[in-house]
Parts: sequence; structure tokens; C-alpha cells
Amino acid sequence: MKVRSSPDTLWIAAQDRMGTGHVQEWKEDLLQKEFVSKITIGKSKEGRTLEVLKIGEADDMEMLMVISMQHPPELTGFLAMQAFIEELVKDSPQARKFRRKYNLYVMPQMNPDGVANGHWRHNLGGIDLNRDWVNFNQPETKALSDFMDNKVKETGGKFVFAADFHSTWEDIFYTNNEELEGNFPGLIPKVIKKSSKRIPGYIPNIRPNEGNQRSVTSNSYFFFVHQAESMTFEVGDNTPRETIQMKGQFLAEELMKILNKKKWN
Ligand SMILES: [Zn+2]
Repeated sequence: MKVRSSPDTLWIAAQDRMGTGHVQEWKEDLLQKEFVSKITIGKSKEGRTLEVLKIGEADDMEMLMVISMQHPPELTGFLAMQAFIEELVKDSPQARKFRRKYNLYVMPQMNPDGVANGHWRHNLGGIDLNRDWVNFNQPETKALSDFMDNKVKETGGKFVFAADFHSTWEDIFYTNNEELEGNFPGLIPKVIKKSSKRIPGYIPNIRPNEGNQRSVTSNSYFFFVHQAESMTFEVGDNTPRETIQMKGQFLAEELMKILNKKKWN
């Protein structure tokens, strides 16, 4: 990179570096653990391997899905997702119990072509992937939805929780209409409220969907097709990194607490 300097102050601003190589390294670290494995689910438009990591040693009766980076530069969302996942792979009694009861599937980078090509929002097909969860015209959304649909068909299990991590100008939770019931009614509001309480003075910005119709987003697909209790977590571009870390970690801890107690028939 060449920069032309002058006697004036020169500002160069950027988010943390998190390219495909960094994501790959993080995945390789996770794969060192015996309860983590990877599943190839397809190829992106430009031929990149689309991969899901499986975390857990349970049967697939109750499953969770986590995705991030549908929108390439949404870095803070990725960081929160990372903190969330790192809590679930810990060697704590809570996390070990969780992994015996549940399998969590995570696709940390939904749009690898977009990241590699420096796209702002779209994939290589020129589509905002988070508007493609009804028609599945793009290989990335098609691969993940096929994976989930097949999983349910093959195992007879169900997705009980799903989260999609993004970034915007402040921290916002987009949730589904609280009057509608998925596989574990009340789970998402409970997890958000309990985890937020642990951060002094923090009142979470929760925006439940008021409609009861399926829409084109991942959050809507997770809920309306799979009845997974789901949320989109938008993380502020400027949210301090320690706060992001705390929020991801507390969300995971409170989620595990509730799910570990839950009896499924
Ligand atoms: Zn986004």
C-alpha cells in the first residue's frame, strides 16, 4: 500500500483484520479439539469451499446454527460470534454438558467470495445474501439451507436455536415476533435479558419483528422453516472490543445454562 504523506495529519482508519486466512486459522485451531469437525457443504460462485464446523458430541435431536459474515466487512459481528463460539468449546463443566446434549453447527464466513474481493455487501452474484433466504438463488444460501433441511430429514431432529451476527452503527438484537412460538418459546428474550444484566448499566436494544409472515432474511428462515428460536445480533462498528467479547461470552453462558436444564421429550 502506498500512502502520500503531507505536513497535515493523515488519518488511516480500518477495522480489525479478519480476512479468509484469519478465519481459516481460527477454524484450524477449533478443529484441534476432538469434538469439533468440519463438513463441506458446497462451493461458492468463485469456487471457494463452503464449510460448516460441527461442535458437539451429541446426537442430532436438538441442534443449533450460528452464521456470520454474510456481509463481508461486518467485522464486529464476526468478533462477537467468535467470543460466543469460544465459550461453547471451553473445557468447563457447563460447556462439556452442553456438548453432550447438543450439536452446534457454525458457518463463520457465509460470503467468502465477498470477503476475498473486498465487497461491501454482496456476494459474487451481486446479491445481498441476507435477502436470499426464500428463493435460494445463490450457492452460499442454497448450500446452508440444504444442509439444514437435510439434517432434519436424515436425523428426525430439530434446530432449537439460531443466530446470525452482523454489524451496524449500534448494538441491536432483531428477534422474531414474541407472540409466535418456535421450538422453545421465550428462549431468545430470556438469553438476551440475562446476559445483558451482567453488564452494569446496559439496557439491550431489542427489536422484535411485529409481523407474522416469513421474510427474505436468515433470521426468518431459521424461525419460520425450522421453528428455531432465532435472532440477528447487530454489533456496533465502534463497540469496544472488550464489550463485544463480554457480550458474546455472556450470551453463550446464559444460553448454555438454560439449554442444559431443558428436558426434551
Ligand atoms: Zn449485515
